[in-house]
Amino acid sequence: MQWCSWRSHLQTQPPSSESEDAFDFLFKIILVGDSDVGKTCLVQSFKSGIFMEKQQNTIGVDFTVRTMDIDGKRVKMQVWDTAGQERFRTITQSYYRSAHGAMVAYDISRRGTFESVPHWIREVQQYGAASVVLVLVGNKSDLHLQRQVLFEDACTLAEDNSVLAALETSAVEAQNVDAAFFLMARELIARNGAGMAAEEAPQSAPPLKGGTLPVHVRPPSDKKCGCRAS
Ligand code: GDP
Ligand code: MG
Repeated sequence: MQWCSWRSHLQTQPPSSESEDAFDFLFKIILVGDSDVGKTCLVQSFKSGIFMEKQQNTIGVDFTVRTMDIDGKRVKMQVWDTAGQERFRTITQSYYRSAHGAMVAYDISRRGTFESVPHWIREVQQYGAASVVLVLVGNKSDLHLQRQVLFEDACTLAEDNSVLAALETSAVEAQNVDAAFFLMARELIARNGAGMAAEEAPQSAPPLKGGTLPVHVRPPSDKKCGCRAS
């Protein structure tokens, strides 16, 4: 994996042991992006490591929880999925409330979904906390033959919009999916230090420190297996 890091805590390797029980940190992460870019598949892959081909266009919002062990801290990631509202490019404002992090997803094989990214970033910035951490995710990296978005363009967009990192993922191949969430978690821990230990979901995102130089992560060349390709 090509990797350039500006802070040592931004490692992408998932720690080994995990459990769903108690936790030291709780972070709410929202997923935004055009319809059909694979947001629900990404959440599914993060939760279970399994790719499920067709996801329901459910109405409302869903969330998924996974607790990870990062540097001896138990980090609970509550990942919110927009569940169909994004087809109209308007998501209920309460969705953004209290989010600590936002993943803005596009499909590398559909240029239009990348062109929508500034819209989604603006939405997050308008309705989310000022301190929200943004990560740009170019999904469907397995469709490299149909690529319509250069990774370099994503990096430029990330740099221009104070986005922490740009990554390419494949929910089908479970490529970089965990890495995206771990990057987010590590940044949030680093920004919050020990002060963010949470017993319950915060009502509003806590103030986070600045520092949003982008980190660019290319998909690794070695493919993981065990997931069903469509
Ligand atoms: P959402 O509308 O953004 O939630 O998108 P979905 O998760 O429902 O996925 C939309 C379509 O893209 C489905 O047909 C998925 O099977 C497909 N899909 C999702 N992720 C990937 C991926 O990484 N690679 C490929 N090739 N297809 C994917
Ligand atoms: Mg969906």
